[in-house]
Amino acid sequence: MGEFELIRHYFAAAACAQAADGVVLGIGDDCALLQVPAGEQLAVSTDTLVAGVHFPAGAPGELLGQRALAVAVSDLAAMGATPLAFTLALTLPEVSPDWLADFTAGLERMARQCDVRLVGGDTTRGPLSLTLSVFGRVPAGQALTRAGAQPGDLLCVGGALGNGAGALPFVLGERAEQPGSAELLAHYWSPAPQLQLGQALRGVATAALDISDGLLADCGHIARASGVALFVEQQRLPLSAALLACVDEESARQLALGGGDDYVLAFTLPAERLDALRAMGQPVQVIGRVEAGQGVHLLDAGGRDIEPRHSGYQHFGTHRD
Ligand code: ADP
Ligand code: MG
Repeated sequence: MGEFELIRHYFAAAACAQAADGVVLGIGDDCALLQVPAGEQLAVSTDTLVAGVHFPAGAPGELLGQRALAVAVSDLAAMGATPLAFTLALTLPEVSPDWLADFTAGLERMARQCDVRLVGGDTTRGPLSLTLSVFGRVPAGQALTRAGAQPGDLLCVGGALGNGAGALPFVLGERAEQPGSAELLAHYWSPAPQLQLGQALRGVATAALDISDGLLADCGHIARASGVALFVEQQRLPLSAALLACVDEESARQLALGGGDDYVLAFTLPAERLDALRAMGQPVQVIGRVEAGQGVHLLDAGGRDIEPRHSGYQHFGTHRD
């Protein structure tokens, strides 16, 4: 099967590649054309997943397809944007029709869930890697950035932490399945981008991002960009029953603080906005506060400042412990 036949068969023919609002021209020309409504801005983000770095080399295509798109769309959620379209640059060691059919099925499922259209890409031969760019729309001037957290704000997250990192030993086959592991695996392979929460946070949160490299590391980005100090209260970290079924509480806390792959939103907001957000049914967990100063500080149950053990994941920096 040649490159063009492959593109036609697996990608141009996919349900998520068909005409939709905002997509003036999709797959097949030199560029796609997107239309953003007047008064809105285009939010753009790119993520690359490399076999052996971001997922095990033998990972099932279907799981990989849905995860790759979810991870990319999570960045749109973090900005308060509404997904519009995505492109897919796919590097494949070989053309395996079964793998491609599985991969597209996973991609389709997540595209449906996130209401986003495949509008283009690139297909090349080489070691397996995926680069997805996502495009979203957001009312002009209302995107949620990492700058803007104010002393006195609450620090919140949109759900349980540590599930992605807790899933890793099961993803890698280092641990046998057990009670709780299926939920952790589902979270790892099919993270749910918090799009509704992100959109509800527009005009409400003062800063936001999605947690991909671990809570402490990602809070560090907000602290730096906003020029403030963030205080995380260790005993308020939301931990899932599934995670606590698989590891002891102290390990779960460490995974929540330092593990990556959560794709849950972290954000700051004035305390008086909390009730309205909760009344909307949004999942909001307060885990700390913003103060004048700098850096991220971890507080134990007695309110004492303790040294975090993990610093999060960086490809060219400190190792993941
Ligand atoms: P060009 O040579 O002009 O860059 P290509 O031959 O690479 O175009 O691709 C032809 C068309 O197919 C383009 O519209 C491109 O966006 C699309 N395309 C290529 N690979 C993919 C893919 N993996 N997924 C979706 N669309 C793709
Ligand atoms: Mg090309």
